[in-house]
Amino acid sequence: MKKKSPSSRKQADQLCRWLRLFYTKGWVTGTGGGICTAMGPETVLMAPTGVHKEEVTPSDLFVVRRRDGTVLRPARNRSLAVSECNPIFCTVMNLRGAGSVMHSHALSAVLAADLAGPRDFLIIDELEMLKGIRGVSNQAKHAVPVIPNTARERELTDQVRRVLEVPAGAESFCILVRNHGAYIWGDDLWETKRHAEIYHFLFEAVNARQDRLRGSREG
Ligand SMILES: [Zn+2]
Repeated sequence: MKKKSPSSRKQADQLCRWLRLFYTKGWVTGTGGGICTAMGPETVLMAPTGVHKEEVTPSDLFVVRRRDGTVLRPARNRSLAVSECNPIFCTVMNLRGAGSVMHSHALSAVLAADLAGPRDFLIIDELEMLKGIRGVSNQAKHAVPVIPNTARERELTDQVRRVLEVPAGAESFCILVRNHGAYIWGDDLWETKRHAEIYHFLFEAVNARQDRLRGSREG
């Protein structure tokens, strides 16, 4: 049976709930971060930029065209602007077939990107939680792409497009941005939430292991 898509009202409520949840986890604090979800094959529901994400309500959300990010319906509050992530979100949806994408400013993501050193990928392995990523086993050497930061969020779009075409990162549902955070996606809001929880756990795990290693070398 074909999966019934939830109503746009239900999706809007869920998206706002996820923002509140992500805020409590420290992933979208200080007005940073964001989220979007597909409403159908053509349209995407998207959070606004520059606002306290834990306060966002359904009437603050934008509807954009998935193909190119054009705003089709602005937020009811006309002083709001659509997420700075708009072109990045649309790029991930169009190139990876994602149904929802979140953007995190978590400290654990910033520190995990540091661990990649000069390399373009962070390799994560030997963790049971890897199984929480669709198609990945706990035996995997999971390669997460790492890209440099830019002055403006939207300037990341070309790098995101390029890195999504690199075969080594094909199993990843995440891109780390140095000194900034991460983009994480899934089939829908639920899978994006699961992947966000899994990847943030993995970031914390690799950081903690690195700290322990450093401690044992110094001790
Ligand atoms: Zn950001």
